Amino acid sequence: MHRFRLNYDCSFAAAILLVSALLAGGAYWVVDASVERMVRKDAEAAALGWGRYLASNLADLEQIAAGEAPSPQSLRFIERARVIGQIFRFKLFDASGQLRLVSDDLGKRWDNEPKLAIHNPAAAAVMTTGQPYTEIKHGKPPLRPPLYAETYLPVRMGGRPAAIVEVYLNQTDKQALFHEHFALAGISLAILTALSFGVPGCALYLRSRQKNRADARARYLAHHDAMTDLLNRATFVERLDDLVAAARSSGERIAVHSIDLDNFKDLNDALGHDVGDEVVAIAAQRLLAAADEGDLVARLGGDEFVIAQRRVAHFSDVEALARRVVATLCGPMTVRGRDLAPGASVGIALAPDDGATALALLRNADLALDAAKAAGRKTFRAFEPAMDEQLKARLSLETLIREATECDGFDLFFQPIVSSGGGDIAGFEALLRLPDGAGGFISPTVFVPVAEEMGLIARIGEWVLRHACRVAATWPEHLGVSVNLSPKQFSDGDIHQVVKSALRESGLNPRRLELEITEGLLLKNTEAVLEQLRALKAEGVSIAMDDFGTGYSSLSYLMRFPFDKIKIDRSFMQDLDAGDGNAAGILRTIISLGHLLKMSVTAEGIETATQAEVLRELACDYIQGFHYGRAAPELDVATMVLKEIAPGPAAAGRAA
Ligand code: C2E
Ligand code: CA
Ligand code: CA
Repeated sequence: MHRFRLNYDCSFAAAILLVSALLAGGAYWVVDASVERMVRKDAEAAALGWGRYLASNLADLEQIAAGEAPSPQSLRFIERARVIGQIFRFKLFDASGQLRLVSDDLGKRWDNEPKLAIHNPAAAAVMTTGQPYTEIKHGKPPLRPPLYAETYLPVRMGGRPAAIVEVYLNQTDKQALFHEHFALAGISLAILTALSFGVPGCALYLRSRQKNRADARARYLAHHDAMTDLLNRATFVERLDDLVAAARSSGERIAVHSIDLDNFKDLNDALGHDVGDEVVAIAAQRLLAAADEGDLVARLGGDEFVIAQRRVAHFSDVEALARRVVATLCGPMTVRGRDLAPGASVGIALAPDDGATALALLRNADLALDAAKAAGRKTFRAFEPAMDEQLKARLSLETLIREATECDGFDLFFQPIVSSGGGDIAGFEALLRLPDGAGGFISPTVFVPVAEEMGLIARIGEWVLRHACRVAATWPEHLGVSVNLSPKQFSDGDIHQVVKSALRESGLNPRRLELEITEGLLLKNTEAVLEQLRALKAEGVSIAMDDFGTGYSSLSYLMRFPFDKIKIDRSFMQDLDAGDGNAAGILRTIISLGHLLKMSVTAEGIETATQAEVLRELACDYIQGFHYGRAAPELDVATMVLKEIAPGPAAAGRAA
């Protein structure tokens, strides 16, 4: 673009110079020609006047022309008239062109001089044309003036040609004067011409230059990212495709590094988009510096970059660049007075092994990038075919989740919760199931996090709540139902309203509904969440802290919210079978703590009679686990409930 502008500017300047030179040359030529013409005309006019004066004062002009010596009176006149004004000399020829008199050499005879027709035929012709003839000449001072005119005048007497007078006229001053006037006029004319052509010319030039620049910028932006000046996605893909195609015959190996700034979204949200933009711009500069010449560096959008590394001989070359990229982006950067160190993760795909097209390579490099992020960020990973399998599995899971959400495809199972004292069923925990399409179910530990990422969990959770309330409303009054809530249901939807409407629709007594939350919910925006929990509690619903003991801050949250129940995570139960005194001691402490805070306690994951026995001894309020029953479909639960309320030994049935 710059070179083009330079060439364009140069040729315009050259054109301006050429036109100016032509104008100046033309003006000079016109002035010169006009001045010579004026000098000639002026000389002729002066000579004519002088000729008449001579003819009227030299009574014997005809005789002198005929070769006779001038009369003393004429001689005196000639002596006086020899130098008058511009005239510094004159000559007299007879009608045949024979020189007879020279004003500044009066004594000499000129009979032997060659005739005028011989050395100056044009001058001799004045006798026949009757018109004066002038020659402009340059002299050498002091003998001759710098510029003078020689004008030949025919003199007729009594109707006959009598003589030719040659008058020498000093025109030096006249020429200077004419020059001055004409030059002034010429220059003015040239300026006027220059202005009348130049001004519109310049305007035209400026406009076309502006347009050219805008065109060049548009062409540039079609290929580059405006914020960073790196290649844009479309151009990168196009060029990488060309490189990969060329590499097929040359055998060159190319590494595609997909680069993503770590936690950029948080940085953007916390510090604003201006800071985010600057971080992106700095990152772009650092990537350019880290890449080799000839590598393609592009911004794909947001905080995503990519480098196509060329001339890869060994995988160590690829690792070296990936390491450089991670190091340079982890390095400190100061943006608007803040010291930041965003860090980055890199995923690598190699052509030709990991893809035959730019898009396939980018896709696989992105999969490797996901692996780098999963490995804790600020690092790099190379693509492996297993990643592709994982992606396919993930995509089909997303499809299943989407279809189940839209077509009422989920199932809700119920697991009994028994009171540890009498072993009676106190209620059920509703557990979500996603049919896998082959007769089995996908575990909620697998699909719930994916549904959360897909932004669907609030909708799914609402279905769970309504369905659980509707089913529980058909059970005997003393049985409660527990529903698990995802933290996203607190941030993405109005959980209070959803719970209220589920209760209203089903007619379930709020006291029979228990909501289970994990401490993950309380990690962010605690105040807003506590507000929602208080509103729910005010409806009469009870709130349980699930998976107690697995997190870091469970205890501190117990102090901040009046939970109705603690559910001790099943990881605490495993050591009970071995008769581990410590395990029992910890459980005793948690149960006492709960009771101290006026919370009831449920132990989860009870699989054996031994575990059940220990917990009963520890005065745990409720027990839940395979020992009492697995999560089962709605119909099996109905059977279980009927069995319980039927007269006979109280025992919870076992579900599949
Ligand atoms: P959770 O809330 O801790 O649910 C208890 C899990 O432990 C259930 O797994 C249950 O089947 C399992 N379990 C119960 N007793 C035993 C036992 O004796 N031994 C063993 N090994 N496991 C036992 P499930 O149904 O696979 O659910 C897993 C997790 O998925 C749940 O953990 C809960 O966090 C989540 N989840 C389930 N349903 C929902 C739901 O409707 N919404 C949300 N947001 N999450 C749900
Ligand atoms: Ca639970
Ligand atoms: Ca649990």
